[in-house]
Amino acid sequence: MAVDPLIELHGVNKHFGKLHVLQDINLTVGRGEVVVVIGPSGSGKSTLCRTINRLETIESGRIVIDGRPLPEEGKGLARLRAEVGMVFQSFNLFAHKTVLANVSLAQLKVRKRKKEDADRRSRELLERVGLAAHADKLPAQLSGGQQQRVAIARALAMDPKALLFDEPTSALDPEMINEVLEVMRQLAREGMTMVVVTHEMGFARSAANRVVFMADGRIVEDRTPEDFFTAPESERAKDFLSKIL
Ligand code: ADP
Ligand code: MG
Repeated sequence: MAVDPLIELHGVNKHFGKLHVLQDINLTVGRGEVVVVIGPSGSGKSTLCRTINRLETIESGRIVIDGRPLPEEGKGLARLRAEVGMVFQSFNLFAHKTVLANVSLAQLKVRKRKKEDADRRSRELLERVGLAAHADKLPAQLSGGQQQRVAIARALAMDPKALLFDEPTSALDPEMINEVLEVMRQLAREGMTMVVVTHEMGFARSAANRVVFMADGRIVEDRTPEDFFTAPESERAKDFLSKIL
């Protein structure tokens, strides 16, 4: 169990109209922990990520990031977004800016770094995700896997305390999935705190400390990958696994 909690959700509830999309969610992610979230389409996985980053409001419950309650709005929210980075299925890079400029942009605007310092940091991060040679290209000149690695470098450029990944490889051709997962495995080994929504069960088995299984807006199981994959307890999880494995 998490001894040093970085992300805490206590009794979180959210509706979209009549749909109770998050039902009494309790989840703690410890510093340095990798939690993989899996579950059927529509079970609330993306909404869960978005509430942690305050892209969605909640109706009840509490979310605490590194000991501080999630701010409602204003400056605190910008700080939070810099502390908890998010990587989406669609990479959302600026098409008319170079790879380097994409990674530097938020450092200039949010972190108020000098251009020289931001660009130096961006080059370090591009090196780290294996894209040093592509800094001056436009996103469209890169493959999908490369673009997603740029998006990861961009998130890292904020020096986040944690990273949320929402199906980061779902939009990629199969041959590009591994290069992105490998960057994520490396981050995990380096101690980055990560919440990863994915259908990549190999990644869940090899990189996750815990697997959280969601169905119908609830966390149904929250266990080690070994326990979850070898002996799922709930009918929902058994059914889910029988369809994907
Ligand atoms: P998942 O990521 O597990 O597929 P989501 O969190 O995206 O699930 O969605 C959970 C449910 O909430 C789905 O039924 C979806 O249609 C609904 N939903 C998601 N976003 C919205 C929204 N902005 N407005 C209304 N319904 C939404
Ligand atoms: Mg989703």
